[in-house]
Amino acid sequence: MTPAGSLLVGEALRKAYGPTPALDGADFSIHPGEVVAVMGPSGSGKSTLLHCLAGIVRPDAGTVRYAGRDLTAMADTERSALRRGEFGFVFQFGQLVPELSCLENVALPLRLNGVRRREAEARAAEWLERLEVTDVAAKRPGEVSGGQGQRVAVARSLVTGPRVLFADEPTGALDSFNGERVMLLLTEAARETRAAVVLVTHEARVAAYSDREVVVRDGKARDMAGVG
Ligand code: ADP
Repeated sequence: MTPAGSLLVGEALRKAYGPTPALDGADFSIHPGEVVAVMGPSGSGKSTLLHCLAGIVRPDAGTVRYAGRDLTAMADTERSALRRGEFGFVFQFGQLVPELSCLENVALPLRLNGVRRREAEARAAEWLERLEVTDVAAKRPGEVSGGQGQRVAVARSLVTGPRVLFADEPTGALDSFNGERVMLLLTEAARETRAAVVLVTHEARVAAYSDREVVVRDGKARDMAGVG
């Protein structure tokens, strides 16, 4: 299964942490600009799939190809460089740097890529505005609400213009009002920048923001296109 025009493709992915496989021959593909919700019960292998696709975890078997390049065959340094340059990440708990202001947190990936402070902070400020959290720019993550913190985390994940955004339960710790707002802002921003989004969630509501759903069960992924 290698659909033409796919940006990121995982084929026959296997990964075991013990006797039972977390992934048991999972296939996945995503196009540029596409938002795919990865659903399924807790423990079914969703996060493991995301980690394999993002090159964080090396599968025991199977291949991951990004823009035609085999991630599974790359050296660690090459894979890290690709991750830093092409991928963005949002996790359930923002994982912002507590000592930095929210603005500095968003500017950080740019600074690490060698962008000068003034320009990095100007671009970070634009992203805070886009996520409707300009007012928290000078605050530290410990001084903002969960919903504000996740918006800052989304801004940080997109500031470098990634081609793929990996989001693992990005609204899992938010109430439904804030969760829906963050999900809307995230998917809108990703669509505008043509970033593909791999969105792991167990909330059916969240899937409403996706173009397509993939259900993971017992380490296998099933495309729900045309089902139901
Ligand atoms: P989900 O994201 O759907 O909740 P996971 O991919 O996190 O599922 O986990 C799938 C299975 O793999 C579970 O049984 C989980 O306990 C196991 N697992 C995941 N990561 C690890 C790990 N780092 N060490 C040991 N077991 C793991």
